Amino acid sequence: MICPKCEAEYIDGITVCADCGIELIPVEEFEGHLVKPSDWIIVYTTDASFEADMLKANLESAGIETLILSQKDQSFPAVGDLAIIKILVKRNDLSAAEEILRDINKENNPGNE
Ligand SMILES: [Zn+2]
Repeated sequence: MICPKCEAEYIDGITVCADCGIELIPVEEFEGHLVKPSDWIIVYTTDASFEADMLKANLESAGIETLILSQKDQSFPAVGDLAIIKILVKRNDLSAAEEILRDINKENNPGNE
């Protein structure tokens, strides 16, 4: 079982994430949910989870459905903090999302265009 929010994995018998307090789902279902839809497109990658969270919040406040996909704690145990975090949006939202990300980067790097 896995928490769909923080991606923590739990042993069988546990049904609620200890950190988030939300219901766990089977790992197969979680991975299927992420990998299956071909209309999800990677719009940004980062190795900083705070940046991923910040960008997700910005995109969602603009009404864009956003997924964060990280490789943490999965098949790259040795990589640790260097795990790449991918931000995905729906194909229909891609151009709007790219515009928002451009604006955010402009704010973060003033005069650097
Ligand atoms: Zn959780």
